Amino acid sequence: MRRYRSGKIVATIGPASCDPNNLERLLLGGVDVFRLNFSHGSHVGHEQAYNAIRSLGKKHHYFPAILADLQGPKLRVGQFENDKIILEAGDIFSFDLDSAPGNTRRVNLPHPEILEALQVGSSLLLDDGKLRFEVLSCNPEYAEVKVLVGGPLSNRKGVNVPHVMLPIPALTEKDRRDLDFALGLGVDWVALSFVQSVDDVENAKKIINGKAGVISKLEKPLAIEALEPIVNASDAIMIARGDLGVEMDPEDVPAIQRRIINVCHRLGRPVIVATQMLESMITAPSPTRAEVSDVATAVYSGADATMLSAESASGQYPLEAIDIMSKIIAKTESDPYCIRRLEDDTQLPHRSILDALCIAAKDAAEFSCASALVLFTDSFEAVVRCSRMRPRVPIILVAGSEILASRAGLCNGIYAVTAKKEFDVEKICKTAKDIVAERQFAAVGDTIVILNDISGNSLNICML
Ligand code: ATP
Ligand code: MG
Ligand code: MG
Repeated sequence: MRRYRSGKIVATIGPASCDPNNLERLLLGGVDVFRLNFSHGSHVGHEQAYNAIRSLGKKHHYFPAILADLQGPKLRVGQFENDKIILEAGDIFSFDLDSAPGNTRRVNLPHPEILEALQVGSSLLLDDGKLRFEVLSCNPEYAEVKVLVGGPLSNRKGVNVPHVMLPIPALTEKDRRDLDFALGLGVDWVALSFVQSVDDVENAKKIINGKAGVISKLEKPLAIEALEPIVNASDAIMIARGDLGVEMDPEDVPAIQRRIINVCHRLGRPVIVATQMLESMITAPSPTRAEVSDVATAVYSGADATMLSAESASGQYPLEAIDIMSKIIAKTESDPYCIRRLEDDTQLPHRSILDALCIAAKDAAEFSCASALVLFTDSFEAVVRCSRMRPRVPIILVAGSEILASRAGLCNGIYAVTAKKEFDVEKICKTAKDIVAERQFAAVGDTIVILNDISGNSLNICML
């Protein structure tokens, strides 16, 4: 199984996609990274999905990456008696500390610190800002609000209180438990929500201790102020536009998205563009023109991956969403303008032997009209430096371990396999030729370029 595109697709798993048959359709349909969102679902559910994804990967000889997304200090409402209510502008509604299921008049807001911080006139935004409320009266246990913008409100939707600093740690007690659980499963990536400082990333990295790569979700104005140091401290970045567009003015988000992608590209960190990419496909079988253009824009600007949230977790058309996302990525990448733009944006490489080899490999692949670039390495750093060059041919990663092969699933252009380590150049060439032929990346007579980062940094060009 292979993909005919370089950009990767991250899909959130939920009720619409978590049974093994659906997971198999998702994998075959184009998902490269499966996101388990620990804000929803149960440990048992996540474990079942995890096990199913790993065995599907084995069955189809593909290494999907698995990402555990930690809720972080996100404020959420509780549950409703009938899972969902509809609110209309002008309705009076209230939030309280009572954990009983909610109805059309009230719901639990299990965060005493928000109720304490609210004032008459404060605004509350729910579900990535889709619903808006104004506080009419409040005390430490209760807030009565008027609905300014209504709509459906379902279980555990997020709450934002713009411009109010809330005293909650970056990794909550729940996050610590979820993190232990996710690392115990063996996830490839952990995403940290609401990162605000380099310290947030470094503290989490100490706990994670190399067992998974760390993705910082950028969704707070403070994180944007410390952009470069945060990107540097992280292994990858997610542009979490849902909360970002609530915490900042939505018209600021496109420029910030470009800035983040450019910084990630320069520093060599994989970057995911997330949230509302094909939002209308939660309930419709085809996307809006604007959504198609949004996915294409992410590809044009050099993102490694684009993400589906509710579209694949709880929407009615998860497979259609993956299919169209796949097509948009492939089509956009084939536009010569896209290739040129990425080359213009290949900002200065590091002055290192690794970067020298990656540039040489990219040039060698292009000038020899190669069909594939085969990278032998044990290091994620080498994978990222090579992916960052955005060669026009697929990069076949021959990894020494399954851990590296799965983690690399997030990186643009990488197709991973594992193989026994070889140190002899002839054996390396033979392994490379066998792999590309077997996986149909090249046919007899084709040229391939081999970059060997394991035994003494060598570059070879050979013909099948
Ligand atoms: P985040 O801020 O981490 O993105 P979110 O609430 O926006 O959290 P998404 O993963 O973006 O969650 O998914 C969008 C919606 O899909 C959720 O709000 C929820 O209604 C539904 N969903 C996602 N995962 C699950 C799950 N495992 N179980 C139930 N519903 C889910
Ligand atoms: Mg979020
Ligand atoms: Mg979301």
